[in-house]
Amino acid sequence: MSLQDRDKKHLWHPLRQHQLNPNSVGIVKARGCILTDEQGNEYIDAIASWYTAVYGHCNAFIVDRVYKQMQQLDQVMFSDFTHEPAVRLSEALIKILPDNQNRIFFNDNGSTAVEAGIKMALQYYFNTGDKRSTFIAFENGFHGDTFGAMSVSGLSVYNGPFEDFLIEVERIPTPDGSNHERILRQLETLNTSHKIAGFIYEPLLQGAAGMTIHDARGLNDILSFCKTHGILTIADEVMTGFGKTGMYFASDHMDTKPDIMCLSKALTAGLLPMAITSCTESVYEAFLSDDIAKGFFHCHTYSANPLACAAAIAGIELLTSKDIQGNIKRIEASHERFKNKVREHPKVKGVRCLGVVFALDMDTKIERYGHLRDKLLKFFMDRGVFLRPLGNTIYIQVPYVISDEQLQKIYQVIEEALEIV
Ligand SMILES: *Cc1c(COP(=O)(O)O)cnc(C)c1O
Repeated sequence: MSLQDRDKKHLWHPLRQHQLNPNSVGIVKARGCILTDEQGNEYIDAIASWYTAVYGHCNAFIVDRVYKQMQQLDQVMFSDFTHEPAVRLSEALIKILPDNQNRIFFNDNGSTAVEAGIKMALQYYFNTGDKRSTFIAFENGFHGDTFGAMSVSGLSVYNGPFEDFLIEVERIPTPDGSNHERILRQLETLNTSHKIAGFIYEPLLQGAAGMTIHDARGLNDILSFCKTHGILTIADEVMTGFGKTGMYFASDHMDTKPDIMCLSKALTAGLLPMAITSCTESVYEAFLSDDIAKGFFHCHTYSANPLACAAAIAGIELLTSKDIQGNIKRIEASHERFKNKVREHPKVKGVRCLGVVFALDMDTKIERYGHLRDKLLKFFMDRGVFLRPLGNTIYIQVPYVISDEQLQKIYQVIEEALEIV
């Protein structure tokens, strides 16, 4: 029996209505930018397996480091112990994170990195005797699937059944270059009517919203408003971190730096699940006390798993190499050329890029939303490219090691889709 058929007996997949869509593609191998299915068909992984495998799948350098670590120390509790991979990773991260970040806290996934960030902000004010309960977040943000993360997310397809159980959140629009005075006035009003603990945001690029890009100067103004008014800022860089926007972090595009940052996805290069919530020394200091209860009592069993740390350290070494930095520049320039080529196409409503991310909105008048997305996904897979449209938005977020030839193939199938679909 095929993987696809055996899968149907016991498995329950995420983000899926199984009654309408029971089939999964059985993948047996991944190398570099290529996924191979159980029939031997090959697909270019044009979204780096949800933005994780940025140095290519089964990258020999990273695999070797993890293999060596595996023979030395596999796992040990992180509440009483520490170890070389965790210490090394903290040192490597502090070197590339924005200057104000100084503390590294471990989690297992992006949602729990956000959850810990939210809890840090709430407890920061609790500990300082200035209890606050409201968060500000962008409309259409996505921050993950645990309760705190769901609360600050603004996409109802995820949250519908749980809305009665979420924490209090007020939403503001993303800055588009012309609305920023209005946003600042809205913030003034919110700040007088609510006790605001924090502002959480996907810096510059909202993924699940459809790879939409917002204005860096406007975002900087919002951040500096928060700074001035004692509102903690939490940058959710789970997707944007580690080079995606052309800089190490999207926060590097703004002068005002966040108090707390959430990292995952490319952190471990697609090898192992891990996440980090980093913060400034002053956030950390609010948890220091003679009182035990003022500490941060949040822990995941696999915190700072040495194997995941080893993968992350190797990943950062690659990220900061001339080779990968050159590749990021090459992909940026290539996307820019493709953008100019397709922008006037009659079926293209909008096109944008930032770093290695390229996004194109197809004109939705052509066909109903849901159908178009499924049809596009199949169209691309049939042509050997894995692209996963968000509604009518086709986006590319390739591994940094992609070849020019593979990039051209991705562009070509998108152009074909514009003609045929
Ligand atoms: C993917 C993502 C998350 C959630 O991460 P998981 O590891 O899937 O829990 C949170 N925020 C952003 C911006 C993401 O892209």
